[in-house]
Amino acid sequence: MATPPPILIAGGGIGGLALALALAQTGRSSTVLEQREAFVAAGAGIQLGPNGVRVLQRLGVAQALRPLVGEPEAIRVHDGRTARTLATLPLGAWIAARHGAPYSVAHRGDLHDALLAAVAAEPRISLRPGFSLASLAQSEEDVRATSAGGETIVGSALVGADGLWSSVRQSVCPTIPTQFVGATATRAVIPAAEAGRLAAPVVGLWLTPGAHIVHYPVRAGAEIAVVVIAREDWQGRDWEAEADKAALFARLGDFHADLTEVMARVPQWRKWALYRLPPLPRWSTGRVTLMGDAAHPMLPYLAQGGVLALEDALVLSDCLDAHPDDEAGACREFEARRRRRAQRVQAMSLRQGRIYHLAPPLSWARDAVLRLVPGTWLMAGYDWLYGWQTGSTR
Ligand SMILES: Cc1cc2nc3c(=O)[nH]c(=O)nc-3n(C[C@H](O)[C@H](O)[C@H](O)COP(=O)(O)OP(=O)(O)OC[C@H]3O[C@@H](n4cnc5c(N)ncnc54)[C@H](O)[C@@H]3O)c2cc1C
Repeated sequence: MATPPPILIAGGGIGGLALALALAQTGRSSTVLEQREAFVAAGAGIQLGPNGVRVLQRLGVAQALRPLVGEPEAIRVHDGRTARTLATLPLGAWIAARHGAPYSVAHRGDLHDALLAAVAAEPRISLRPGFSLASLAQSEEDVRATSAGGETIVGSALVGADGLWSSVRQSVCPTIPTQFVGATATRAVIPAAEAGRLAAPVVGLWLTPGAHIVHYPVRAGAEIAVVVIAREDWQGRDWEAEADKAALFARLGDFHADLTEVMARVPQWRKWALYRLPPLPRWSTGRVTLMGDAAHPMLPYLAQGGVLALEDALVLSDCLDAHPDDEAGACREFEARRRRRAQRVQAMSLRQGRIYHLAPPLSWARDAVLRLVPGTWLMAGYDWLYGWQTGSTR
């Protein structure tokens, strides 16, 4: 029997590389088409709840990544103005025992590198840097992806893992536009020795009306990733735009000096603008489907963007494995298994952002709940999120 053409994966980010690895584990070959000239590791901090770490374990990547990640003891929530601790939500051994995998925090570059190293060692995966997907065409038998340079590659299915600004999405749902939410995420990674109070082995969350700051250790605690999420009317598609430090600090006036004094010493900040996408009417058409941010971009308030792309990768490879001669059927099943969960996480993330940024008097009610409800109870409310298994659809 002739070997089927490879699965084409547009985008060699977190989801695309994870999908290639998952497919290889089922014996299926793939070609990863990445627009960048090199598969460079970019970004800063990324959080990996137990649901994401479990995927990395199954892909055989968790072990290599482990020396580089942080495994914070807790999420510590502060009033951003007074620095008062409002709640301590357990992570560490508590969440690892509850969900069978740890809660890790990583540098996105380290995660990307670990996935890339595993991909490079896998003969069933071929990597095509410098291939910017410009158009695609499908027939009963196959799908053809054409680059901006005019090269065409044939596959048995095509997966749009090409992120928030997906060009594959244009073929699936051309009329649904992304919506700027009026906020940006500004980030830096700083040596732990210079991070003062931010160097604690926790995920620190500092809340003020309209803005919050998150920090956590990466690179085995040697560095601290810090991100400021605040209202700002700056729009752009770049993940690495240089942030104006004076403008950033003008927005940080409300935060406690414990934070701002450390942050003032950081020379360079980068930012990206936050966009949402309404739920798409469909993710798939024939043997073409979308995954990760291309299908369901996440606002960063639940820290699940990378994790949901990892979950998608496992489910899509399971579906393609279950329907080896029916890629269109596999795409339909994937969408049916993932849509509800993705929409739920998107909605919860949006809601969480609203709660973080509340102003008085509503923020007083929020803070009272945080102070009074035990941290273990608060964390138990996220069992549906962190306890995900490949068979779950919620
Ligand atoms: C450079 C960069 C830096 C990031 N930094 C952070 C961060 O610091 N913190 C954080 O929480 N999240 C960050 N993210 C986002 C985060 O990685 C994703 O939200 C999440 O991992 C979902 O993954 P994904 O695979 O769907 O998309 P991504 O990981 O965004 O990957 C999409 C990939 O598709 C490629 N691509 C796009 N268009 C085309 C095309 N036409 N043809 C071929 N390839 C294409 C992109 O170059 C990219 O490699 C970053 C994303 C990128 C691309």
